[in-house]
Amino acid sequence: MRIKILRIGHRPERDHRITTHVALVSRAFGADSISIWEKDEKIKKSLDKVSKSWGGNFRVFFETYKQAFKDFKGISVHLTMYGIPFEEKIKEIRDSVINDNKDLMIIVGAEKVPKDIYDISSYNISVTNQPHSEISALAIFLDRLYEGKEIKKEFKNPKLKIYPSEKGKNIINEKL
Ligand code: SAM
Repeated sequence: MRIKILRIGHRPERDHRITTHVALVSRAFGADSISIWEKDEKIKKSLDKVSKSWGGNFRVFFETYKQAFKDFKGISVHLTMYGIPFEEKIKEIRDSVINDNKDLMIIVGAEKVPKDIYDISSYNISVTNQPHSEISALAIFLDRLYEGKEIKKEFKNPKLKIYPSEKGKNIINEKL
């Protein structure tokens, strides 16, 4: 089972910071890759740098939503404030993804989402029916999907590792 995030509506000059944070949350909360519909090499570079330091093999791709859907065989979840509350569907989605090992694509928007997305996604899911942010919606959705287990995920082959401390920063370089 693989989890990919599809970030639509990215405008490099306006959304650089938010999309970088969507990508960081995707990686930290257990997704395998992010696809962004506009090329923004800076985001790829910074995520590659994060993985090199902190481990794992998170990938950044650039593709349109039509390309992303074309070859995708799993289930797709579009996060939108207009969708069905996630509490009603999360078990069904978890059964397909975690238990039946189906690939999952989670779609998050920026400003306006093409109408098509509402029709072609397997699910339109809300994380409350209030407007907030793609970053929070994604983090909460992934956390509920994994039932909190992603928090303990160990990233493979890290160069740096944090040893949690009450005060200050305790970082070990594992490669020395
Ligand atoms: N009107 C938009 C919508 O359809 O949710 C809000 C735009 S918001 C700035 C950008 C993205 O954040 C949305 O495309 C959606 O993926 C996510 N988002 C915002 N609020 C959400 C909510 N309550 N539930 C799920 N996703 C949400």
